[in-house]
Amino acid sequence: MALSQHIPDVQERRFDLLRVPMLGRFLKQKHARTLLQIPVFIVAVVMVLHGIFGPQISPKNLSTVLTWVHFRGVLILVLLVAGNFFCMACPFMLVRNAGRRLFKPRWNWPRALRNKWGGILLFAGVLFAYENFSLWSRPLWTAWLTAGYFGIALLVDGLFEHATFCKYLCPIGQFNFIASTVSPLEVAVRDHGVCDRCQTKDCIRGRRAAGPGAEKFVILQRGCETALFQPRKEGNVDCTFCLDCVHACPHDNVGILSREPVAELSSNALRSGIGRFSRRVDLAALAVFFVFSALMNALGMVAPVYSMEKWLGSVLRTEWQPLLLGLVFVAVIVLLPAVLLLPAAAVSSRVSARNWREMLLRYSYSLVPVGFGMWLSHYSFHFLTGLLTVIPVTQSALNDIGIYAFGDPMWTLMGLPLRWVQPLQMGALVMGFAGSLIVSWRLAEEDAEDRVAAIFAPWAAVDVVLLVIAVWLMLQPMDMRATLMAG
Ligand code: SF4
Ligand code: SF4
Repeated sequence: MALSQHIPDVQERRFDLLRVPMLGRFLKQKHARTLLQIPVFIVAVVMVLHGIFGPQISPKNLSTVLTWVHFRGVLILVLLVAGNFFCMACPFMLVRNAGRRLFKPRWNWPRALRNKWGGILLFAGVLFAYENFSLWSRPLWTAWLTAGYFGIALLVDGLFEHATFCKYLCPIGQFNFIASTVSPLEVAVRDHGVCDRCQTKDCIRGRRAAGPGAEKFVILQRGCETALFQPRKEGNVDCTFCLDCVHACPHDNVGILSREPVAELSSNALRSGIGRFSRRVDLAALAVFFVFSALMNALGMVAPVYSMEKWLGSVLRTEWQPLLLGLVFVAVIVLLPAVLLLPAAAVSSRVSARNWREMLLRYSYSLVPVGFGMWLSHYSFHFLTGLLTVIPVTQSALNDIGIYAFGDPMWTLMGLPLRWVQPLQMGALVMGFAGSLIVSWRLAEEDAEDRVAAIFAPWAAVDVVLLVIAVWLMLQPMDMRATLMAG
C-alpha cells in the first residue's frame, strides 16, 4: 500500500493560502519569490551601506536598528502567525540564483556532512559573536556580518548543488526550520489520491525539456531542492517555502495549507528528506540547541549574568572575555540541558518500554514550543518597545544623503510602553509552555496507554523549570539594545 494512502484525504477542507483571491494568484506566479526577494535585498543593501558609511552609533544606524530590533521581531511573529516566509523572501537566495547563472555548481555536499551539525556550529558561532563583540552596538560589524552572509551563501551554493547552504548550514534557516514546527501553515499536497496516480513526480524531479545542441536537457522548473517529496513530506522541517514544488506540480496539487501547530513534533512518521525524528540525533540536538540558546540569548542581556562572568573571572584570575563568555555558553547550552534532560529521560524510560536514549531523542522535540515562547518573548520585547525607531533612523539616513522631504529625525519616537509589552511577553511564555505540555502528553500517550502520567511527569517538570527561568529572565531589567534607551 502506498504510504500516502494512510493519510486521510481531508486536505480539501483545510484553509489554503494559495486559494485566497489575489494573494494566491500572486504567489502562484513563477516569479513571485523573486518579486518578494527583491525588496528585501534592496533593504539589505541599504543596511550594509549605512552600516559601512553611516554614523557608527547603533540607535542611529539602519544596519543595527533593522537587524537587531526589527528583523528578528518580524521573523518570529511571522513564524507564529503564518510560517517560514522569511526563507521564501530570502535575499541570500536571490544573489545565489543570480550567481548560478554564471557558475554552475559541480559537486554534491559530502555525505558525512549531510546533517545539522554544521548548522548548529554556525548558529552557535553567530550567537557567541553577537555577545562577545556586542554586535548590537556596532553598525560596521553588523554590516560586514550581513555582507559575509551573502558571500558564504554564494560560495557554498556556487560549489555545491541543490540547496546545500539552506539545508545544512544557514543558521537563520535552521532557526526557521525548527521554529516553523509551531507555525499554522505548511506547504503540502491537497489530495493524496492525485499523487498516487501521478506518473511524473515533478514536484521532486523538476520539469525538464530536451536541450539545444550538446545540452541533454534544460530545466524548466526546479523540483524540491531540499529533497522533500511532497506526498511523503510531513511538517515544515527543511521546507524553505520556496514554492518550487507548487510551480513544478503539473496537477496543481500543492498548496499552503493550514494545520495544527506543534502537532508534527509528536509525530515519528517516516518523512521524506528527514527520516524519523527519533533516529535523527543531529535534529534532536538542533531542537535542544534552539531551546537553550533562547535562554542564553536572553541571559546575555541581564545583570546577573554580568555578575556571574565577574565571579568566574575572579575565580580563574582572568578578564579574558571570550573565555568567560565561553564558559557561560557551555554552562547554559551544554550542562543545563544535560542536567535537566538526562534525568527526565532516565526516569521516563523506567516506565516506558523504550530505553533512555530513545526517550531523550523523542522528547527533545517536545521542548521546542517552550523555546519558541522564549524567543518570541525576547524578540517581541525589542521589536515592540523599539517599533517606531525605524522612522527617525530612516529620516536621518535620508538627511545624510541630502533628502529632507521627510523632515528632521523624530528621535523621541520609540514604541509600545513596557507595561503593555510585558503581559504579551508573559503570554508568549505561557503559550509556549502549554504547547510543550501538549506535545509531551501526546508522546507519552503513544509510549504507554496505561502509564501516560508517569512518563509525562518528568518532561512536564523540565517544561516548568524552563518556564520559571524564562519568566524570571523576562522580569529582569533588560538592555534596550540598538535603541536610544540603550544601557
Ligand atoms: S508532482 Fe504533484 S501530483 Fe505528482 S507527486 Fe508531486 S505533488 Fe503529487
Ligand atoms: S520545493 Fe521543497 S522546500 Fe520548496 S516549498 Fe516545496 S517542499 Fe518546501
